[in-house]
Amino acid sequence: MTSKQVKAMAGAVRTAAGAVRPVPGARITGGLLHHWQVRNSAATIPHTIEQLRAAGNVANLSRLLEQDPAPYRGRYPFLDTDLYKTLEGLAYELGDGRAAEPVREFYDEVVGLLERVQAEDGYLNSFFQDPAAAKKPWEDLAWGHELYNLGHLIQAAVAAARRMGDERLLRVAGRFADLVVERFAERGVCGHPEVEMALVELYRETGVRAYLDLAAAFVDRRGSGQIEHSIFPADYFQDHVPLRELPSVTGHAVRMAYLAAGAADVFLETGDRSLFAALERLWDDMVASKLYLTGGLGSRHSDEAVGDRYELPSERAYSETCAAIAVMQWGWRMFLATGGAKYLDVFERVLYNAYAVGLSEDGRAFFYDNPLQRRPDHEQRSGAEPGGEPLRRSWFGCPCCPPNIVRWMAQLADYVAAERDGALLIACYTSARITGERLDLAMETSYPWDGDVGLTVGRAPEEPYGIVLRVPGWARGATVTVNGEPHDAAPSAKRAEAAADSPGGSADGGWLRIERRWAAGDEVRLTLPMPIRAHGSHPHLDATRGALGIARGPLVYCVEQQDSPSAAVDDLVVGVADVAGARAGRRGEAVVLGVTAGAAPPPSTELYPELPLEQAAITETAVSATFVPYFLWGNRGPEAMRVWVRSRTTNGKKAT
Ligand SMILES: [Zn+2]
Repeated sequence: MTSKQVKAMAGAVRTAAGAVRPVPGARITGGLLHHWQVRNSAATIPHTIEQLRAAGNVANLSRLLEQDPAPYRGRYPFLDTDLYKTLEGLAYELGDGRAAEPVREFYDEVVGLLERVQAEDGYLNSFFQDPAAAKKPWEDLAWGHELYNLGHLIQAAVAAARRMGDERLLRVAGRFADLVVERFAERGVCGHPEVEMALVELYRETGVRAYLDLAAAFVDRRGSGQIEHSIFPADYFQDHVPLRELPSVTGHAVRMAYLAAGAADVFLETGDRSLFAALERLWDDMVASKLYLTGGLGSRHSDEAVGDRYELPSERAYSETCAAIAVMQWGWRMFLATGGAKYLDVFERVLYNAYAVGLSEDGRAFFYDNPLQRRPDHEQRSGAEPGGEPLRRSWFGCPCCPPNIVRWMAQLADYVAAERDGALLIACYTSARITGERLDLAMETSYPWDGDVGLTVGRAPEEPYGIVLRVPGWARGATVTVNGEPHDAAPSAKRAEAAADSPGGSADGGWLRIERRWAAGDEVRLTLPMPIRAHGSHPHLDATRGALGIARGPLVYCVEQQDSPSAAVDDLVVGVADVAGARAGRRGEAVVLGVTAGAAPPPSTELYPELPLEQAAITETAVSATFVPYFLWGNRGPEAMRVWVRSRTTNGKKAT
């Protein structure tokens, strides 16, 4: 990489109003996240390219260069975005030197097509540019997704410019963005938010203020009734009230979280406090009442919607993979704004659970929706999508999730660390090489399988400098040593002090700061104990009342029927003491949990038996079951699965 590129990267990620800034110079070198990135390069990306070609996404562009274009393929007008998301991922792959030659060929082919297909005035969309298209450009802002298309084009273009030094896509995206700045100067807003985040990035990359102003205008226009909605209600589009007045996250889950992430980007550059106050309020409300234990967002298949507070059914969870990515995007921007560790706790919960479960172990099949339970007689909708596969599918007619997984997997290193003046912050633990502005670190760890993290200082400044370690919200009794000497006997007991020292002045703690004059070779060791935890749920959350969920570190666990040989998973009864006494073991690299539970088949086949005055004790027999990380479920065939298992109540008796 040239120094010009590095300079461009460092400049581009510095925000005007953020408390902390990203560290673009990190590389993941080992552990689970590295395994994911290797799998992305070796399996998911080649598979995605194959599927994009087979589904017609590439041909949709190339046909427009013919005299008499073939019909547009696919049901939706936003299929260009799946190319854009893939290109964005490939920019990281190519920039980081992970990609093989066919990937470069695909990248160049599609970039070349986009350059040639783009209209004279800058417009670019393979659905609407077809002379035979059923609709004209800008005719249907609610469903046309044209600005959503532009958003993903911009994000691919910015990634290519920053990571590869290739500005071809940036020129294409800039021409389209200029057209949009002119066309949307006064009114109009897209039915699907996304372009807001992208326009702010384009502003960071180019310095053109009009892009930032338009992003801010799009955030503020939503809620003014400018979206013509016929099938779905206004709240589906977050268009029923302005974002600043929205009482709670609502409507289509991906739209909601993309909008919030875009608004957070607007704040990061404008410092608009009232906008940020709304985002903080919406975030806190979402975390308190609308997120699954896995970090998933979206409780309804109907309208792919968020749902009401505490409406979190397990087997009908929608929890779209794209919504998981959107929540991470939003959370990361909230962290940049405040330095608050609580945002990273959610980010990490989503990363290892609601996001990771979306991809199969072999990297070639995807969940669109991510339920927390599969019933033994679950009927899979089939025929509507190619393959009709019973679990994850190789592709979708609406393939928004697979290339979203690809681009996010490719950029994970950007979320490992952050900086503020005088300190380097570790946001996510993974084996990595981190090149900060003043300090370089090598991090070695098997996280999330265990909580031991070793950091070795490389380049260091002359004067005292801070290394700030995140102490996750679930961690109790974390310890740290510097060159073998205890640094702080009980940092987690000092969360209040940590809060005062929090980088953004935020009051949520979760940081451990070590400040000293560092020398190359200095070693810091952080130990985050990872006991196995039992989680209950809020009493208003009807769907999981009387049940418990099991977690260890950032991972949520589940039980599949294959691992409960003596009892149906629906009949398992587990107490908090059973969870505390569970045994951690290995299955390959993964840590699995052996739990001694009870089995209690239903006492009656009646659906609604009349209750006696005094409830009889539950009769149980002791059984063993193995719980596996939720993100690994569904890789051994379609059998029953549960995250939430029946919880032993005080009147329960376990046979010994
Ligand atoms: Zn999706």
